[in-house]
Amino acid sequence: MGKYLLSQANVNQWLSMLLARYEVFVPVERESQVHWHRLASPDIEANTLSITPAQKRIRPSEPVKSFMFQPRQRVGGMPQPAEPGEPVPRVLLGIKNCDLVSLKVHDKVLTEGGFNDPFYAAQRKSTMLVVADCPSPEQSCFCNLLGLTPYAQEGADAVLSLVNGDWLFETERRGQELTGMAPGLFAGLAEYAMEITVRGEQRKAAAAALSVINPRPWNPDLPGAIGARLNDAAFWNRHADSCVECFGCLMGCPTCYCFLLYDQAKDGGLERTRVWDACYEAAYARVGGGANPRAEFVRRFANRFDCKWNQFKRDYGMYACSGCGRCFKACMGRIDIRKVLGEL
Ligand code: SF4
Ligand code: SF4
Ligand code: SF4
Repeated sequence: MGKYLLSQANVNQWLSMLLARYEVFVPVERESQVHWHRLASPDIEANTLSITPAQKRIRPSEPVKSFMFQPRQRVGGMPQPAEPGEPVPRVLLGIKNCDLVSLKVHDKVLTEGGFNDPFYAAQRKSTMLVVADCPSPEQSCFCNLLGLTPYAQEGADAVLSLVNGDWLFETERRGQELTGMAPGLFAGLAEYAMEITVRGEQRKAAAAALSVINPRPWNPDLPGAIGARLNDAAFWNRHADSCVECFGCLMGCPTCYCFLLYDQAKDGGLERTRVWDACYEAAYARVGGGANPRAEFVRRFANRFDCKWNQFKRDYGMYACSGCGRCFKACMGRIDIRKVLGEL
C-alpha cells in the first residue's frame, strides 16, 4: 500500500496517460444531479463538465452495478451460445464507499457461491475501482447507520481524497498501476505528511456530519426485529400506505440483484436475455400453478425489508443495503426507509 500526491497541475497529464490504457468514467454534475460520464478528453476544462471525483457531491444517481450487471443483457442462446467476450479495461474514477459496498453484495451472490456468473465476473475483473471520499454527506445519506464510513476502508483498488485541490491517492494491489504508470507525476507521502493530516480531519468532519443527519442508531438486532414483525400487517401497511408500486426504489438500488430470464426466437434459433426484476412486482413470487405467497402488496413490501436487513445478513454476514439513500430520493410516495427501520 502506498500514498501518493498528484498536484492539481499534473491532473490532466495523468488523465491523458490513463485514457491511453483505459476507458475512464467519472461522476459529473448536470442540473444539480451527479451522473456517470465517459471521459473523452484528458482536459477537464475541455470536457466543459464539473467532474466530481472527490469533491462536494455524493454518489451518482445511477447505481454502479449497471457497469457489471447490466439492466438488459444477452446471456445465452441456441445454437449460438452467448459469451462474455473480452471486456475493455476500465476505470471508475470517483465511486463512493456505499457503492463499493454494494458491489460486495453482488460479488457474494454472483461469484462467491456455487454459481459464478461469467458476465458479471468478466466486467468486475476488468474494472478498476477508485473510491473517492465524501467530504459533504447529504440529508439522504445514512451509511453511518449501517456501520460504514464516508470513505473506503477496504476493497478499493485506490482511494482518492481531494486535499487543498490536489489529489491524494492511497493504492492497493492492482491500483498501484494507476500511480506506477506515471511515477514522475506523483510525490510519495510519508504517514506524517500534512496532506494525510488534512485528509483525516476532512474524514472526521464528514463522519460528524453523518451523525448529525442520522443521530439515532437503529435496533442493534435489526434482523431479529424484522423477523418478529414480519406478519404484523398493520405495521407494514402503515408504512406502505403511500406506495404507488412504481419500483423506482428497486431499480435504482445498487444492491438489488434480482433478475428475470426470458427466451425469444432470433435468426432461426433462440436468444436468452436477462433483465433486472423487482420483488414489488405482483407476479414476482407467483409459481407455475398460479399460487402466489405474496399476492398482497403488504407482503411484498415487508419482504423487501426481510430480504435486505434480515435474510441477507443471516446468509452472507452483511446487510444488502449500503445506506446510499437512492430508494427514497426516487420515491413518489415519499417513503423514507430510515423511518421504517427506525421504528423496529
Ligand atoms: S451514503 Fe455515505 S458513502 Fe454514500 S454518498 Fe453518502 S456519505 Fe458517501
Ligand atoms: S435499499 Fe435504498 S439505501 Fe439501501 S442500498 Fe438500496 S437504494 Fe441504497
Ligand atoms: S419508490 Fe416508493 S412508491 Fe415506488 S415502489 Fe418504491 S416505495 Fe413504492
